[in-house]
Amino acid sequence: MTDVQSDTGVLAGEERMLIDGELQHTATDAKFDVVHPASEEVVGQATDGTTADMDRAVAAARRAFDTTEWSRDVAFRYHCLTQLQEALTRNKERLRRILVTEVGCPISVTGSQIEDPIAEVGHWANHGKDFAYLVDTGVHPTQLGPARRKIHYDAVGVVGAITPWNVPLYLNIAETVPALMAGNTVVLKPAQLTPWSGSELGRIVAEETDIPAGVFNVVVSNANEVGAALAADPRVDMITFTGSTATGRAILAAGAATVKKTLLELGGKSAHIVLDDADLGAALPMAAMMACVMSGQSCILPSRILLPRSRYDEGLEILKASMEAFPVGDPWDPGKMQGPQISETQRQKVLGLIASGVAAGATVVTGGGVPEQLPTGYYVAPTLLSDVDPDARIAQEEIFGPVLTVTGYDGDDEAIAIANNSIYGLSGEVSSVDVDRALGVAQRMRTGNVTINGKSHFGITSPFGGTKQSGLGRRNGAEGFLEYLESKTIGLPE
Ligand code: ADP
Repeated sequence: MTDVQSDTGVLAGEERMLIDGELQHTATDAKFDVVHPASEEVVGQATDGTTADMDRAVAAARRAFDTTEWSRDVAFRYHCLTQLQEALTRNKERLRRILVTEVGCPISVTGSQIEDPIAEVGHWANHGKDFAYLVDTGVHPTQLGPARRKIHYDAVGVVGAITPWNVPLYLNIAETVPALMAGNTVVLKPAQLTPWSGSELGRIVAEETDIPAGVFNVVVSNANEVGAALAADPRVDMITFTGSTATGRAILAAGAATVKKTLLELGGKSAHIVLDDADLGAALPMAAMMACVMSGQSCILPSRILLPRSRYDEGLEILKASMEAFPVGDPWDPGKMQGPQISETQRQKVLGLIASGVAAGATVVTGGGVPEQLPTGYYVAPTLLSDVDPDARIAQEEIFGPVLTVTGYDGDDEAIAIANNSIYGLSGEVSSVDVDRALGVAQRMRTGNVTINGKSHFGITSPFGGTKQSGLGRRNGAEGFLEYLESKTIGLPE
């Protein structure tokens, strides 16, 4: 076990889960290990919750929804979430160290995973406070004469939130806070590799806010069956999930029996269409950075670079130089911007996909394996593969590693066809000095989001989500709050 080393080093988080207002271990006191991906050392443990624990958590959330004023008392919810934002701010540096410890993401790039979600708690508190829960839509003609209609927005009920490990605190907040502010009660099931980003949220809610018992529960577990139990539970009204498309399908199927509302943010295989007039010197170093900065463990990463054949070699040179210069190493070193993959299993998946690409005819331009200077930690070198067949596995499956594939094309139509040749439709990117031309191409991409010339589509104020097998529903923006509400249309006298 590695204890706290310094103010900036490895830090173990809360072991206990939160059920019905009480921080607790599972009945048998079983625990599972948490490993720091940069040192490969076990740095602490978390309680290993069971389906019996999940059963109690869902019962608590059900009771809190059905028998308390939570779903009706907007002012109290605003008070509680404002408290939560203040408490998260007090715990900010602790949460940051726990994040780096669990995920191995470089401390230099934690702002979007710590400061941003804390600010977003305030955003949702304000959005929910100002939201019109009862809207008069005026008088409508009917066969039986005119009727006034009002729309009442009700909380959906008990929301189960199942989260992945790549940006755990961000997603634990993004999946639960708008749900809470809309008046739902919540059971959060964090990912196995990152239990503390969930259990710490539970601890902070329990110790530092007035959020009532049962309104927010966190069940930590090392077993997929505990998440599966949440997804199938008839007392749960809605599941919000971020993770792989395979697990998303299982969750959708599990909810079918009770017709559960389901919000899914799944995998991606996004393309970056570099048009023939693009400023390659601006677009491609940024593309390389995006691929490396979270070790490629991002669902929205534009990992398929489509280069015009007329500028193919020029583009490849810039990408190669950018990837070779990228600072990879110890996530605690503020000079590094790419850390390890989160686990050996993930590293092997990435290396296996790279090998499949080479077997299918791709060329390794740089990287392709484990960096020699980093024998400890689950590192993968920034990797550039050229001559990638758009139908090859490496061009079709999500890699979740610091890997860019490059495919050549002739003409915008071919580029768009290659970009859309995917079961996924999460995001995409277009680069061109002609913004109108880029916008025209972006409009033809079958995805939920597109970035043009590096201008991000992603943020709390705009809807985010996928088409095709990348998901159902939207987070963020006004849409992201409506997802956690049901509209009830009421007809009444004029
Ligand atoms: P990964 O394969 O990268 O670990 P997953 O999509 O499998 O990603 O996991 C994301 C989350 O889904 C985790 O919290 C995990 O525990 C949970 N999970 C895994 N399998 C199931 C399932 N069958 N039903 C519900 N949740 C699940």
